[in-house]
Amino acid sequence: MNIILAGFMGSGKSSVGRILARIMGMEFLDTDKLVAARSGKSIERLFHDDGEVCFRALESDVISSIKGEGKVIAVGGGTLVKEENIRILKEKGLLVHLRVSPQAVASRLAGTSGRPLFDKIGSDMSLLASFMAEREAGYSKADICIETDSLSVLETAEDIAGRFRPSSVDCASTVTVDLQERSYDIIIADRFDDWNKRISATGFKGKLAIITDHNVAPLYLKRIADDLKRSFSVYSIVLNSGEATKTLAEAERVYDILLKHGFDRSSGVLALGGGVIGDLAGFVASTYMRGIAFFQAPTTLLAQVDSSVGGKVAVNHPLAKNLIGAFYQPRLVIAETGFLRTLPMREIRAGLAEVIKYGIIYDTRFFDFLECSSSQILALKPDKIAEIIHKSCSIKASVVSEDEYEAGRRAILNYGHTIGHTLEYIGGYGSIVHGEAVAVGMVAAARLSVLEGFLSYEDELRQNGLIDRLGLPLKYAFGGYDDVLAALSRDKKCVDSVPSFVLAEKIGKVSIVKRVNDGNLREAIDTVLQPSDCI
Ligand code: ADP
Ligand code: ZN
Repeated sequence: MNIILAGFMGSGKSSVGRILARIMGMEFLDTDKLVAARSGKSIERLFHDDGEVCFRALESDVISSIKGEGKVIAVGGGTLVKEENIRILKEKGLLVHLRVSPQAVASRLAGTSGRPLFDKIGSDMSLLASFMAEREAGYSKADICIETDSLSVLETAEDIAGRFRPSSVDCASTVTVDLQERSYDIIIADRFDDWNKRISATGFKGKLAIITDHNVAPLYLKRIADDLKRSFSVYSIVLNSGEATKTLAEAERVYDILLKHGFDRSSGVLALGGGVIGDLAGFVASTYMRGIAFFQAPTTLLAQVDSSVGGKVAVNHPLAKNLIGAFYQPRLVIAETGFLRTLPMREIRAGLAEVIKYGIIYDTRFFDFLECSSSQILALKPDKIAEIIHKSCSIKASVVSEDEYEAGRRAILNYGHTIGHTLEYIGGYGSIVHGEAVAVGMVAAARLSVLEGFLSYEDELRQNGLIDRLGLPLKYAFGGYDDVLAALSRDKKCVDSVPSFVLAEKIGKVSIVKRVNDGNLREAIDTVLQPSDCI
């Protein structure tokens, strides 16, 4: 997680940023300083010699080149004028707007020097106000807005830091997935220091293989392996990250390793990672010696709210994703919300798409809660995150308990996915991540629901407003209607080449519709394919 501070000159971005970084134990970056270093000139000189266009181009380059997590980044006052910058910044972190009034700017900056813009307009209040108004559209896209006029720099930094702290005592919560003899618990807390006891409590005594990837291993593998070694014989397998790992060939490689190290029918597998690791490790567990014990430690939000509930495990076939798989339930899921603090913001937002989906398909009060808490959720406030994971897992668990093998009702979980999957497919998996495709798919599904006469326009606006507020895309300008239609007919859930759609009736209720009007479908798809700057 990175925290990005934006705001007009005089809003305190750099001074607040420096203090906030210290409070949070993060690194501080100032993009103006990086631009100056890269150009070898002061910002004032750069504006004077090369003009604003050149400055903005350099600024965009600098922003794109910032890598990694754990940074507080102050950006220039005009950075958010470019929509592309907003998109890039929101992928990298939580975008915070420090709002300031023209009066406060004038009094804070009076007598200072080295600010070319202020030197030009600072003395003219109405000019200053209209200039600030022009920038408002960009600032309004921030995830969080803080009114700084009456706050000191320290108070502003503490206000932001406070949004990341839990507001109540943090304790573990449990969701039970009720599937008769295959029932299991999902335990959720910021951190567990008794993994060995938790897994022993399931009755498991065998040898344990931890399967993880190259990104997660350096962050968490040692702590968890050391903990588990207190009770089990543990062997770790670290795979490449990314969808390309989810193949039968890779599963075979894991079987070889398990065989070589004496894993037998009493052994087990723990998946420590996101959906890719969960799917592959689960597939291996479901097939090795006709099935061995499976434990899951999801480390992405998507995996914590979605793929760790329901027991779908799979690898990809060259012709289709998740084609070779099974339903195989884990014995226990351990979800540490603390894992999410190292997850890139783009992945956090992507996971939230599935969370919004649960509100729409099942629970209007949960949707209300998401609307009210969106900025705290984006700040990963531990109690709010624990609450959304708990609620999401409970909703998915109750849908799955009713229909473990997706014979009927479980299909409501595909809301936003029919069109979402085709967008992922057309985009070539990678240009748009799953959650983003689901967000765009939900926009199309809601439009279709309105056109088919199921959903009110007001509820469509509410859904899209929340998607936008959580920093997810509403459109995806890739391919045309015909590409989407062709991909739709390849959907594995198609019957006679016609996909069924999950349509919303209102927030909190959906139904499965076998046949929709072709014209309505075209219009719904066209809505999300329009080019947009906010993709
Ligand atoms: P999902 O399908 O759940 O979105 P993936 O398995 O594709 O997840 O993981 C997304 C990316 O995030 C991968 O590159 C993975 O290595 C990385 N990753 C997973 N969990 C974490 C974490 N807690 N911190 C940092 N990176 C992570
Ligand atoms: Zn999904």
